[in-house]
Amino acid sequence: MDEDIQAAQGINQSSDQGLAGGTAQPREVAKGKPGRRKSIRPIAPELARELVVTIRHFLPELAVWLGDVKDKRDPKLVTFPLKVLLLQGVLMFLTHSGSRNHFNNWTRDAVQMARLLGRLMDCEVESVAHLDTLEGVLRKIDPVMLERVLAASIRRLIRMKALEGWRVGSRFLLAIDGTGMHSFNEPHCEECLKTEHTNGTVTYSHKLLVAFLVSQDGFALPVACEFIENAGGIYIKQDCEKKAFHRLERRVRDLFPQTSFWLLLDALYADQNVMRPCFAHGWNFCISFLDTDMTALWKEAQSLLILSPGQRASMTLPNKEGSREVRWINDLDYAGMSLGVIFQIDRDAQGQIIAQFAHLTARPVHRDNVWTVASAARLRWRCENEGFNVLKNGGFALEHVYSRNPTASKCYCHIMLLAHLIQQLLIRGRLGAVFEAVFKSFRHYGQKLAQSLASCILPLDLSMPGQIRFSTA
Ligand SMILES: [Zn+2]
Repeated sequence: MDEDIQAAQGINQSSDQGLAGGTAQPREVAKGKPGRRKSIRPIAPELARELVVTIRHFLPELAVWLGDVKDKRDPKLVTFPLKVLLLQGVLMFLTHSGSRNHFNNWTRDAVQMARLLGRLMDCEVESVAHLDTLEGVLRKIDPVMLERVLAASIRRLIRMKALEGWRVGSRFLLAIDGTGMHSFNEPHCEECLKTEHTNGTVTYSHKLLVAFLVSQDGFALPVACEFIENAGGIYIKQDCEKKAFHRLERRVRDLFPQTSFWLLLDALYADQNVMRPCFAHGWNFCISFLDTDMTALWKEAQSLLILSPGQRASMTLPNKEGSREVRWINDLDYAGMSLGVIFQIDRDAQGQIIAQFAHLTARPVHRDNVWTVASAARLRWRCENEGFNVLKNGGFALEHVYSRNPTASKCYCHIMLLAHLIQQLLIRGRLGAVFEAVFKSFRHYGQKLAQSLASCILPLDLSMPGQIRFSTA
């Protein structure tokens, strides 16, 4: 076992202080000759313990929510409760196993993991199931049931005020974007999107649209997703991101009827049919505005800009890296809707333009809120960096085909998003103070979590923290 993990086990059994917020003290390791400066090495936390504490603190009803997923198996033939199998799926993603086979291999020796599963799911578990069992179950359950678990998790975080400070005005920032999941050179299933290329080749693909709750300090919590796919091989026009957006927007509204959102969207969504439902729901939006996409509207906006010379403000960027100028207009008429527009220009220290953006908004922009709007508009990139990049390259392997069965494949995707949410709660919460210093990469972290899950003996009286604060890194 890793030396750091052993050291942490000894320390953590006598202390249940949170690791975030500086309560965990770094360990000093003497190097080299006496008198040489000591290097500071942070304590490696007992990851299994921190995971259990995190889930118990933020999502204490997870066992109930997973238990509500309808199990279509014959009860007489059931060995592993469905909620336990689903949690194993979550752990497969949390440990960055990359495939069911890899997870099955390392859990052969995971003697303590069954107890941990039972602990989190409030039931007796004697052994760890082979993930073929999970695969068989996922082929028969309704993926929507798993999406409800993700939504319940987000609602719980909002209700417990864990996301206080995330609202801009009264709205949560919701970045929505699409990404590719799988691509094949031959037909894969009847739902595949078909793309004919100019060189005569054809690809068959699956894409995904995800809504992430984003924050200024680097969170991208998945809220819901929509699969972009054709309907059973019978269709006039193929499915696309914008069609999927409407399905997703309606579901987000149904899953979060009490919550108001501020949508952050790229230029693909600069469309009256996207804006109208946002107005109808009382949501705000920032949609990228390009002169090449909406030429007439852009010219109209430029005319209004000339008539509003006083509607501008500027600031110096931190570390004297240059400056940012914002300009804004309101009452831009677009298909009977009155829009605001914010223009941003970044210049380097020599005055050269290094970036410029324009966004359409549903609410008026004025001097008191212009910097808030400018900042919110830029957060759409969180769904690329902290969202899709982590899901694809941070150990979750979004592009891996976890199942060739279409229903199970969707279920894996929902489970992956739940794991992505839990990972952020863990690494920015209990691990926040030490995560970067202890783990060289997400891959390294995933390996350590797997080792810990396999061997950690949790104390019976696991005391819980009153509060877990998120790091602001
Ligand atoms: Zn397919």
